[in-house]
This record gives sequence, C-alpha cells and structure tokens, in this order.
Amino acid sequence: MFILEYKLRGKKHQYQAIDEAIRTVQFVRNKCLRYWEDNKGVGQKDIYKYTTQLRTEYSFVKALNSTACQQACERTWTAILRFYNNCKSPQAPQAPLNKGGIKRGIGYPKYSKQTRSVEFKKSGWKLNRDTKRITFTDGKNIGELKLIGSRDLFYFQEWQIQRVRIVRRADGYFVQLILKLDVRDIAPQLEPTKKCIGLDMGLRYLYADSNNNVVEPPKYYRKAEKRLNKLNRRKSRKFRRGKKQSNNYIKARKKSAKGHLKVSRQREEFSKRLALRLIQSNDLIAYEDLKVKNLVRNKKLAKSINDAGWSQLRKWIEYFGVKYGRLTIAVNPAYTSQECFNCGQLIKKSLSVRTHVCSCGYVEDRDKMASLNILKKATIGHIGSYSEELNAWGDSTSILVGSNTCQGKLSQ
Ligand SMILES: [Zn+2]
Repeated sequence: MFILEYKLRGKKHQYQAIDEAIRTVQFVRNKCLRYWEDNKGVGQKDIYKYTTQLRTEYSFVKALNSTACQQACERTWTAILRFYNNCKSPQAPQAPLNKGGIKRGIGYPKYSKQTRSVEFKKSGWKLNRDTKRITFTDGKNIGELKLIGSRDLFYFQEWQIQRVRIVRRADGYFVQLILKLDVRDIAPQLEPTKKCIGLDMGLRYLYADSNNNVVEPPKYYRKAEKRLNKLNRRKSRKFRRGKKQSNNYIKARKKSAKGHLKVSRQREEFSKRLALRLIQSNDLIAYEDLKVKNLVRNKKLAKSINDAGWSQLRKWIEYFGVKYGRLTIAVNPAYTSQECFNCGQLIKKSLSVRTHVCSCGYVEDRDKMASLNILKKATIGHIGSYSEELNAWGDSTSILVGSNTCQGKLSQ
C-alpha cells in the first residue's frame, strides 16, 4: 500500500459539506456500536444489514456514498473484533456486562466524538488527473476540489486507487489516495555500498553508531513546549464547563492544535530524512528490537524517549529498507551494553558508567560498544559475507533475530 496525500482547496460551503459527511460517518459508527451493545450475538453480517436499515431510516445517511457508509461500519466491526481478541488474552479482567451480555474489558470499543475522516472505496469520487482536481459525487454535495501538492498523478494507473480518504486536520482538509502499488516498483535501484552499521539507541543520544558517530535527538518539542504550554493555558482559561463553548475558546483550541501539528510534522520529517540517509549509505542496518511502549511508562524518561522518536525512526528505516532493498535487522537488546565485544564476558554496569573496561584489556565507550554488539548479533555467522546473504534473502529485507523465530517482517 502506498499513500499519496494532497491538501484540498475549495469553497467554504464545500468544507461544510465535508464536515457534514464526516459527521454522518461518526453517526453510522456510533449507531452500529450501539446496535452491537444492545443486542445479543450480533455478528458481522447483522451489523452490515443494520447499516442498510440505517440508510432507509435516515435520509442524511442515504445521502452519503454507500461505500463510505460501509467503510464506517467496517471500522466499528474492526474495533469490536480487536476487543474480542483482547478478551481471549489471559490478562482480560473481570468486568461488568453490557446489555448484549458481553464484558466491558480492556479495549472495549468507544463511541467516537472526534471523527476526522471519511473514506470512499471505488465509487463516490472522480479524479481528473489533467486538471489535478477531484470531484465527490454523492448526495453530500462536496463537489469539485483542487489538489494542492507537487506529487505527480500520472505514475500510477487509476485502477490502482483502492480507497480515497478525506482527512480534517487543524490546518485544513487533505485527501489521501491509497494506492495498490509496490514501493519497490517506483524506487530507483541503489548500488551496494559494502558497508553495514549498528545503531545503539540511547537517552543521551538519539543513537550512537558503530562508526563512532552520535546523532543528537531533535529538540523540537522541548523548544516548542513553552509556546505550546502557553497556547494550552489560553485554551483552558476560555473553557466553560457544561456550557456551549465560546468562539474565543474555539479559536484558542484551533491555535493550540496547529502548534502541535507543526511539531509532529517537523519530527516526522527529521526521522524520515535520517532514515533515508542511513539506508542510502549502508547495505545493512542493525538496531535493537526495543519495546518503546514499556520504556515510555517510566515517566521521568518518557519525555526524552518520546522526543527522540525511536519508534518513528525505526518505522522509516524499515520502510526505506523495503523500498530500496536494503537489509534491516532488529536484534534482541539484552546485554548489548554489558557483554564485552572482544571476549564475550558480562561486565555489569549501571546507567551512569559510560565506559566499558574488561579484564581482557578491551576498553571502549559504552554506547559505541553496544552498537558494535548489535551489529555483531545481526551478522553472526554471516560476517564478511553479508552482501551474498543480501541476495539470498531477497524479498524479506526486514528480519527479526535474537528471538526464537526468525521472521520476515515488512513495514507498512
Ligand atoms: Zn573482554
């Protein structure tokens, strides 16, 4: 899957029509959820049938394109399925029952209040690639909108568009074309570099690599934090409990949301560029298979870990790895900073000890040694011949090692 995104430009009444379509999506989602809650043994087919019933009952639901309506219902069903799967896991707690006789446990689907998108399948829209415009043809009267963005619309075939999604954000409306396209088909082939690299992700750095470089985490959030806090405070001062919110509150809320959006975009851009650079200059990239979620639970460290954007960087490394046919390997992070790179002896040390000193005479910076160990783990048995391995492994360029199963895992 490949997503192309453009900003949408239209008239005010068209934006209002989009809002109305999004409101309808939310209505359908919540109605379907209510139907499942109130009735015993509701399955996928029943909930689909119920959507058809909603279309005859409410004219504003009928006005929404039928595939968009179906998509809204499918999303509810996905949430319900996810909940059912959670219930099967042993940690599922004892919880009160709903009217349908189902326990309200972890992951119990919620009613949505902040739906931001409407998604069409193959109908309800028409793309004009020559004029770079898209027309929505259902009863919501959104009409023709201009696509703003530099990406070319001609390198794919129209049948490759699987879905079309309109997304509302703090700074406007966007359209996403979801394409059935293999990213490898559109990527230029990269020459082998005969280089490999290990990354040790840390707190003081974003990562230290096996070539003795360190990359500092971007400090966007910290820098922007002061400003964001100010905007947040202004927003809460204008909040009126239990009453309709004032225009000033709505203005303040929009400003604050825009601020957050800007920071998250900067962060994503940073990770993306860094990941691309790493992929372009190495045949193999090894890093730790960290469970960022577990680390973030530690509140003191949380801000810097989140800020560093580890998981985001990893996501992009794996994405570009697939795209350009490079090998990316996530290894088990256990003992990478304790095991001596030279002799394998375990030297326990606390977080504050920054240098590894071993009785075998090997002395190295803690983070650099960790990155060397990570690379070693990734290339064990293949050292010196990884480029042949690269060809042998072919498609599954992202591999999880260090755990019992060796599994190919493609990102996105
Ligand atoms: Zn040693």
